[in-house]
Amino acid sequence: QSTWGNVPQAPPDKILGLKDLFQADDNPNKIDLGVGAYRDNNGNPWIPLSVRHAENILYNTEKEKEYSPILGNNTFITCVQRLLFSQDAYGRRLLNDGRIATAQGLSGTGSLKILAEFLRRFNPEGPVMLPDPTWANHKSIMQYSGLRTETYRYYDCNKKSINIEGMLDDINMCKPGTVILIHLCCHNPTGADLKLEDWHKVIEILHHKELIPFFDSAYLGLCSGDPIKDLKPLFMVNKAVVEGHLPTYLLAQSFAKNMGLYGERVGSFSIICSDKSEKQRVNSQLAQIVRSTYSSPPCHGSKLVSIILSNENLYSEWLTDIKTMAERLNSVRIMLFESLTNKYHSDVDWSHLLTQRGMFCLSGLTRQAGPKT
Ligand code: PLP
Repeated sequence: QSTWGNVPQAPPDKILGLKDLFQADDNPNKIDLGVGAYRDNNGNPWIPLSVRHAENILYNTEKEKEYSPILGNNTFITCVQRLLFSQDAYGRRLLNDGRIATAQGLSGTGSLKILAEFLRRFNPEGPVMLPDPTWANHKSIMQYSGLRTETYRYYDCNKKSINIEGMLDDINMCKPGTVILIHLCCHNPTGADLKLEDWHKVIEILHHKELIPFFDSAYLGLCSGDPIKDLKPLFMVNKAVVEGHLPTYLLAQSFAKNMGLYGERVGSFSIICSDKSEKQRVNSQLAQIVRSTYSSPPCHGSKLVSIILSNENLYSEWLTDIKTMAERLNSVRIMLFESLTNKYHSDVDWSHLLTQRGMFCLSGLTRQAGPKT
């Protein structure tokens, strides 16, 4: 009798499973449309130049590989806070008032997980509302952390655009304390983002219904080609916080895509607090969660991020790297649009492909419309 004999087979991860299917396929024309990772013009993975240069600097200057502090290295935290919160007057105010608890996380996923654990401890009743559709792992992360999830309407598959009325109606029905998860930009999997005027309306409801916004920022910079421009919605949220309309928000930031540091697992999580002493208490709880989960974060990737964000030349090189990625993603989109329109399905309106941004593209093809097998 085996001790684990009654352990059932878990279903394979849909996205990672697609990669296995891709590898097993011997069709020479196959294209990997699974995991969201940037490829260059030859279809190869790409290490941004700023990262290569930061690696060089690190190799020549690194003196230790000791443990990081539980919430990450102070230099990393300062650099990340400067990037995310010092680009607008309201963010700077929150920073200067000592209201932002930020820590290093294990990329985007690990950061979402720690914030989910925090919510389970301190906001267990509030369900987490996820956009429909969303990155499949959102539901798993929240549910395995003991949180209830529901969905709000986000995308209208018939109109091939955001269903803003549906979204506003759905979040307007939520009870106070409900957590609303919103992709900051480059929505996965639709590539469709809220317009700035939509953000205004969303923030109004967050305020009046006393909801807790939870931003997932996994693709910062890949929408406009400029991370600071992509932060614009957050500037509006910061204003609402400083003016007393929103007491808090949560933010998970990944450096996987915009620095090409996928496997280094480096990201950050932040919670806006009401004052310095609340921030200290929040940090102490975050530290307890991290200590009992993985003790402290890995140091290599965070040192690279710190070097890039603190060195003027590397920072501007990174901005160019992001622009390179965003421009190529958009040029591929245009090629796809043109070939579908001119060569294959000229009777269909493919213009939605042109407005989508980031690494994802929702074609609108249905199973029935796909190639016959
Ligand atoms: N959030 C969204 C919306 C994503 O699409 C992803 C990755 O695909 C992540 C978070 C987390 O990515 P990572 O853990 O690699 O930073």
